[in-house]
Amino acid sequence: MTQDDRAIVRARVVERIDEIRVSLQRDTGSTSAVTPDSAIGRLTRQDAMQAGHMTEAMRRQRQAELSRLEVALRRIDQDDDEYGECGQCESPIAMARLMARPDARLCVACAELAERK
Ligand SMILES: [Zn+2]
Repeated sequence: MTQDDRAIVRARVVERIDEIRVSLQRDTGSTSAVTPDSAIGRLTRQDAMQAGHMTEAMRRQRQAELSRLEVALRRIDQDDDEYGECGQCESPIAMARLMARPDARLCVACAELAERK
């Protein structure tokens, strides 16, 4: 992975960490914390919006994502050579995948294989 690519992913990770921290702090009164990319059902999302605060499930989901992102950031900052490299086949992980999941340790092909097992 080039230093440039690494810097781009790092910026994305930092931005996402900030977003999550802000939304975790914003307990009440905002529906903007409900993002369409969360992997929760529509009903849960509607409930969350009606209640005007994040559900406990969403909060846990965000906290889990936050800690994964912090691990990814640490790996980038420690100049981990294996960051951005597939743990299985050692080929570089696609930038698009790293942008979506900065903590990904497998390339798309290996991740798909792993899911099928
Ligand atoms: Zn792979």
